[in-house]
Amino acid sequence: MTEYNIAVLAGDGIGEEIMEQALKVLKVVESRNDVAFSLMPGLFGAAAWFETGKSFPDETIAICDKADAILKGTIGLGHEESKKIPLDQQPERGGLLPMRKRYDTYANFRPVYLPPSLAHFSPLKPKIIGDGIDIMIIRELVGGLYFGKKETGVDEQGLRFARETLEYNEQQIRRIVQIGFESAMKRRKLLHSIHKSNVLKSSVLWTDVVGEVAQDFPDVEVQHMLVDAAATHLCLNPGQFDVMVMENLFGDILSDQAGGILGSLGLMPSACVGPDKAYYEPAHGSAPDIAGKNIANPYSMIGSVAMMLDLSFQMTGESSNLWHAMESVFAAGYATPDLSKPGTDVTMVSTGEFGDRVVAALSCLPVPNR
Ligand code: NAD
Repeated sequence: MTEYNIAVLAGDGIGEEIMEQALKVLKVVESRNDVAFSLMPGLFGAAAWFETGKSFPDETIAICDKADAILKGTIGLGHEESKKIPLDQQPERGGLLPMRKRYDTYANFRPVYLPPSLAHFSPLKPKIIGDGIDIMIIRELVGGLYFGKKETGVDEQGLRFARETLEYNEQQIRRIVQIGFESAMKRRKLLHSIHKSNVLKSSVLWTDVVGEVAQDFPDVEVQHMLVDAAATHLCLNPGQFDVMVMENLFGDILSDQAGGILGSLGLMPSACVGPDKAYYEPAHGSAPDIAGKNIANPYSMIGSVAMMLDLSFQMTGESSNLWHAMESVFAAGYATPDLSKPGTDVTMVSTGEFGDRVVAALSCLPVPNR
């Protein structure tokens, strides 16, 4: 029997509710396979700050250091609530970014997946969706503006200013671009490099490096696209994309837009992978507007589990079973309120019921040989 330690950081807002569904699923996976999961819960985000004075407390760091993989829920507070926490200790600055830095999780995979059977969830017209949407957004996660030098103050004219630095070196770009090409090789061999080289010098360096790495992948077709144009193309013709690779800020924004074209941010799981450690999280935030109501869509959290099974534990077959189980729940006509709009044939279910249905569907699928 293989044993894995998993750090479980439920976080804030809807984090607890959707994590509960992920843990239900893990229990079933454990019962069907020759694996044992040792779950190590830890405080993270605003919940951690209110209890310990730190968003990423030392005890949680110790748990994460020991873990084979980290399963993270959602963090963050609503705009007003967040003012209770000092700026630099707020969940992203005080918790999330330090975690990304500590484990050097530079490669963020955000699948944007809408098979034809789920196409009715998208706000886009059927003729635009065509055969469905299947894109892998790969976002650089530990560089750029989010990690650059920051300064605030008052200038000579007495005006308040904020200065933030966008910096990448060629090594940082090369390693994420390399991941982009490798992913393209496993898919349709088409890579869109997203940048802003008409304005930003960091993007000029980015495109130069893309050209250099491309030499090693002659089978991959490379398309260069400005980030602003990419935003439009995602709405007008998402089917043209397969793998998209981009720097940190662009990836943050475009991947949320991608959630929009699917129909809900609740359909956006993600994997954040570093050289020695990976963590898995929904690509969205803590959704304070719906927290505690048992209506959040847990697909993003359960999908993150599926990515963990595949990427951290090499349980590829069970991972793909989990995707199928979730798809089958949607295909049977069930969805949480974000996707079950009045006037559609979709039956509205709670977060917990969606999780139960996924568990039931997974239990019916044959157990794979890893
Ligand atoms: P959000 O992603 O939390 O929510 C945006 C909208 O999407 C809301 O209407 C919300 O109800 C909906 N939504 C999100 N996830 C959903 C789900 N699973 N099911 C159904 N609906 C869902 O963004 P926000 O409201 O701008 O931010 C809230 C907090 O989350 C902020 O504190 C922000 O800083 C934080 N945040 C954290 C992360 C992260 O941890 N990686 C990412 C984004 C935002």
